[in-house]
Amino acid sequence: MSGSLRSVPGLSMIRQDVQSMHAYAVQDARGMVKLDAMENPYVLPPALQAELGVRLGAVAINRYPGPRVDELRRVLAQHIGLPDTHALMLGNGSDELISLLAMACDLPDATVLAPEPGFVMYAMSARLQGMRYVGVPLCADFSLDEPAMLQAITEHRPALVYFAYPNNPTANLWDVSTLRRLVAAASAQGALVVMDEAYQPFSSRTWLEEIRSSPLANAQVLLMRTLSKYGLAGVRLGYLCGPAALIGEIDKLRPPYNVSVLNAECALFALEHAQEFAQQAALVRSERERLIAALSLMQGVQPFPSDANMMLLRVMADDDQAASRLFEGLRERGVLVKNVSKMHPLLRNCLRLTVGTSTENDLLLQALAQALPGARV
Ligand SMILES: *Cc1c(COP(=O)(O)O)cnc(C)c1O
Repeated sequence: MSGSLRSVPGLSMIRQDVQSMHAYAVQDARGMVKLDAMENPYVLPPALQAELGVRLGAVAINRYPGPRVDELRRVLAQHIGLPDTHALMLGNGSDELISLLAMACDLPDATVLAPEPGFVMYAMSARLQGMRYVGVPLCADFSLDEPAMLQAITEHRPALVYFAYPNNPTANLWDVSTLRRLVAAASAQGALVVMDEAYQPFSSRTWLEEIRSSPLANAQVLLMRTLSKYGLAGVRLGYLCGPAALIGEIDKLRPPYNVSVLNAECALFALEHAQEFAQQAALVRSERERLIAALSLMQGVQPFPSDANMMLLRVMADDDQAASRLFEGLRERGVLVKNVSKMHPLLRNCLRLTVGTSTENDLLLQALAQALPGARV
């Protein structure tokens, strides 16, 4: 990619906005304690790995995906207890579903609206589709700013409203009554509301309970989940649930073979061993509480509460570079986290830490104790 880009034949046919974009950067994590991407830190026990190998080896990779993908949809719906008024569609990760939703709702002048800071793909999918995007700042404690959200919903009449529940990168759940009022306001304007529950395995609440208990109030609500944080980030499997008629329309936009036979078989295998993954999630939740307790005792940092497998940590300092210095200090000590301090003004001096194994979390705590200003080492 060196030399003058302008001289590359054909480049003038690539959209100008695409040419000025930066590619999604994945941090190099080789040899590091990897606590930057909300991955489940546990792998399958060797016996299950071997069993999965045999299963995948027998998959008909010469055929296009077929009935096993339908089977996966059925098993997932059963696994989460989806009401029979609702349907479920699969995506190659929820990232693909977010793109399909933008495609589906791209009416003239359509707007996507979401609280900020939030998941970056909501804005990116909207912009790539040529839709308008409106981000509404959260309050300083990362709760929803209800008056500002109501105002924005009235003013912009969004086609799509996203709530990540729990939110990324702030890791918190929002107040249920506030959300109910915002769902009502958005629905009254005709919007589709997406509850993105990527962190459901670690969360104390799910919007599915609302959908079950108040189906009418949630007639325009779509529930999105993924197996990524569950423990299959490498497999790429997300799903979107909603009233069958709505899902039927969005599903028309899905590339016919978007989920490979390997993704599907692996996901089916994981769901057959849901107990194993439930134990892993329970370990992550208890490690999360241990981390938060230890971080609360540390001088100079403030951990935020979390319902996810990650959490925000604020470095208490007068200057804006404190989190960036701590990020570097951790990296020099072999621990990779995510520096979100420049992502949004509300995230000033914040790092996002993914919960690891107890050994990894010990290494993180040790590196933090050494890297924080005032440390003796
Ligand atoms: C990680 C994440 C996703 C993306 O998940 P994939 O299924 O891996 O594409 C979606 N939404 C939120 C809020 C996330 O944090």
